[in-house]
Amino acid sequence: MTEIDRTARNRVDTAVEALTDDAVAFASDLVTERSVQGDEAPVQSRVRDKLNEIGLDVRTLEAHEVAGIEDHPEYSDTGEPYDDRPNVIGTREGSGDGRSLLFNGHVDVVPEGDAEQWSFDPFSGDVEDGKLIGRGASDMKGGVAAMVYALEALDRAGVELLGDVTVESVIEEEAGGYGGTLATVLDDDAADVDAVVIPEPTDFDMWIANDGVSYFRVTVEGKSAHAAETDNGVNAISKLVPIYRALEALHDERKESVHDDLFEQWHEHTVSLNLGTLHAGEWASSVPDEAVLEARISHAPDETREEIHDVVEETVRRAADGDPWLDDHPPAVEWFGWRGSSAKISPDEEIVTTVQDVMAAEFDRESHAKGFPGGIDSRFFVNYADTPAVCFGPGDYNIHGTDEYLPVEDLVETTKALAFLAMEWCGYELDERASDLDASEAAE
Ligand SMILES: [Zn+2]
Repeated sequence: MTEIDRTARNRVDTAVEALTDDAVAFASDLVTERSVQGDEAPVQSRVRDKLNEIGLDVRTLEAHEVAGIEDHPEYSDTGEPYDDRPNVIGTREGSGDGRSLLFNGHVDVVPEGDAEQWSFDPFSGDVEDGKLIGRGASDMKGGVAAMVYALEALDRAGVELLGDVTVESVIEEEAGGYGGTLATVLDDDAADVDAVVIPEPTDFDMWIANDGVSYFRVTVEGKSAHAAETDNGVNAISKLVPIYRALEALHDERKESVHDDLFEQWHEHTVSLNLGTLHAGEWASSVPDEAVLEARISHAPDETREEIHDVVEETVRRAADGDPWLDDHPPAVEWFGWRGSSAKISPDEEIVTTVQDVMAAEFDRESHAKGFPGGIDSRFFVNYADTPAVCFGPGDYNIHGTDEYLPVEDLVETTKALAFLAMEWCGYELDERASDLDASEAAE
């Protein structure tokens, strides 16, 4: 049961419906900006204008302003400088001493790939057949619009939250989140909040846990020789094969031995090891003198990144053990790029049960708590701000693929859900001067 009274509920419902065209137009504007990594400034200026318009106290934060961020264990240099790539943060003070809440959403998108394969322009932001179409509609410019319009609808409905609300529009989630959410968490002026909700496309379920992710590279040295004198060389591909097989076996072994129910209710296994690229040799008639394998391994919430790195390095070492050439030329294991931590909050956390109560009471929906098999920005709040964070938002419609879209009804439901959630979490009071808003209810 929620504490939201009918009058307030109906006012908010009516306000969201009345704002739907505006919310869709705003989300559409965001989609028209091709905000791939490095090009987030124009879309962020639209968000900043909107947050100012609804009366939030707005500031911006660029990652290079956060002292020491490059020394953080999750930081990794993406090669893209942080000038003119702001995160936008808006705050509204509560009118009482209710719990505080932070909405966080990313405005960066993954590239559209081959635009010829889309059946529409990925950046038109058009609305067709009740769907907002384009890259980022679902992941997650729709979610960003929903969190902003939830606050506007509360205003319009004369609902004042008792606790503080913060809205963060961040960059770089798709590339790991270092310059985005990590920067906002490490910032000296970061708000100390009681819970975080990220409206990623979760189909109204919740991601309350995630796997950590690491990339690694194994380099095996060989010795070049002419193809006619093969035995004078050492074939790096042949030397890599046992290592490749051992890593395959590690994947199989971990699938069987590493379990977390939050993941396995929805995915076949909790963790995985993907052997992603293999480069070796230069020419068919030369013995290859180097073979390089790149891979992605994930680790469960109960494991640490250090543990998983040890497991991989030991697996490679053992596979090479006993080979005289490899004894003298040990394979190198390097960790590069992404190094995301795993995270998990309890399904009993109040923010989780509050989302579930709101969804059951207002939408007659069951919102399941799940684990996500990759990196999500909620981990930064959980691991480095000691704050419970969940991803909770609309449906997932072709995200990262072609023909991404978001049904307008998903945007509306997300907006209402976030507004009700804020009321339930922060507490609220009704501005009686806005009681004329109840007329439509009386007329029903
Ligand atoms: Zn996303």
